[in-house]
Amino acid sequence: MSDKVVTRFAPSPTGYLHIGGARTALFNWLYAKHTGGTMLLRIEDTDRERSTEAATAAILDGLTWLGLSWDGEAVSQFERAPRHREVAEELVRLGKAYYSYETPAELEAMREAARAKGLPPRYNGQWRDRDPSEAPPGLKGAIRIKAPTEGETVVHDRVQGEVRFPNKDLDDFIILRSDGNPTYMHAVVVDDHDMGVTHIIRGDDHLTNAARQTVIYNAMGWDVPSMSHIPLIHGADGAKLSKRHGALGVEAYRSMGYLPEALLNYLARLGWSHGDDEIMSIKDMIGWFDIGDVNKGAARFDFAKLEALNGVHMRKMDDHALFDIFVATLPYLEGGSALAARLDDQKKAQLLAALPGLKERAKTLVELVDGAGFLFAERPLPVDEKAAALLSGEARAVLRGAHATLTAVSGDWTAATAEAAIRDFAQAGGHKLGAVAQPLRAALTGRSTSPGVFDVLAVLGREESLARIADQID
Ligand code: GLU
Repeated sequence: MSDKVVTRFAPSPTGYLHIGGARTALFNWLYAKHTGGTMLLRIEDTDRERSTEAATAAILDGLTWLGLSWDGEAVSQFERAPRHREVAEELVRLGKAYYSYETPAELEAMREAARAKGLPPRYNGQWRDRDPSEAPPGLKGAIRIKAPTEGETVVHDRVQGEVRFPNKDLDDFIILRSDGNPTYMHAVVVDDHDMGVTHIIRGDDHLTNAARQTVIYNAMGWDVPSMSHIPLIHGADGAKLSKRHGALGVEAYRSMGYLPEALLNYLARLGWSHGDDEIMSIKDMIGWFDIGDVNKGAARFDFAKLEALNGVHMRKMDDHALFDIFVATLPYLEGGSALAARLDDQKKAQLLAALPGLKERAKTLVELVDGAGFLFAERPLPVDEKAAALLSGEARAVLRGAHATLTAVSGDWTAATAEAAIRDFAQAGGHKLGAVAQPLRAALTGRSTSPGVFDVLAVLGREESLARIADQID
């Protein structure tokens, strides 16, 4: 066997790509990338009632948006049921598992009897050592693993440390149901083994499963993969992350205007750190990540921190790259579709030119939509309340002069030529620069905040700028 690391992400397709699932995928991906290994994707669709095609599509879409690529085709767990059956039957042949024949009512009575004696409600192993010839005729029976009854099962976990489970607490659990379908516990082991998974990285809600799964590995004589159970994400109040804390599905974070790289940076830092580094590129994360450095304690999701981090990533990003992501994300953003519909070549060029100024004032792509609104506004511009307050009678008189000055600008129309003209005008008239710039901004954008007013003049162009100013002085 080679030493190549093989990780996997194994979501159950019952809804969307959960934000916690995205972090699990990220840790698997980072570890694979860091070690030059591969990450596989397995869709755990064995539960036919809860699994949907739409949920699978949402998971693939979420991973793709985040850039968490998997190697090879996604594996369907359901389609591997014949193989799960084969291994369960082999375990029976090996004497490591056996058929049992209780009805649900009998099992309930068994649990009840145990409870009455103050014992944990476990299977009593009554078919464990019986001869198969005693099986009730015509019944198929469920296959149960012969779990060890003494000693302990130890999970060597790279995050949780050595976790010991007394074997007296593990009963002979079912690996194949009487209808021939594998249990989840069994399917996971067979799949991880067959897929050559060397490292299992998943939520710590699966830690007790790890003990039961170890029993199956041992029964088959298979190597137990390296295990890492990472703490779940909690809300700001310390309770397990739920809807009332905020969005759970990754697609909602796309709609809120977060950059994939920023979200990954934020998720990576939930429970993992590299010195004091807060801002990390994907390359940094790949270079620095090690599963052994993940904390044991639960991490708390802080929306304000995510937003601030997103703003930093937006400002750091190359303008063309940010432009491309912005345009690709527009259909998902609030107010974005209307803008996308009007994004012709001229508007694209204006947007790109305005981006350096716009991104200084935006923490999310949704705020960028808002900030870019002036580019797409139709004359006469709607003027918001704060902007209207900047357009008093006196201010309009100043605007009139500014309009005449700008009309007289000859040659190139750039931020520099516009600025020179306005500065001269302000000085000659004894106005403070702000007393000219503020009404100009209000007239040009309908807002009291915008990128630098000279950049706005340049981006809008001579004709549109003069027309917008004229709209406010007539
Ligand atoms: N399908 C399980 C889940 O979505 C993960 C199982 C595993 O990683 O072993 O929670």
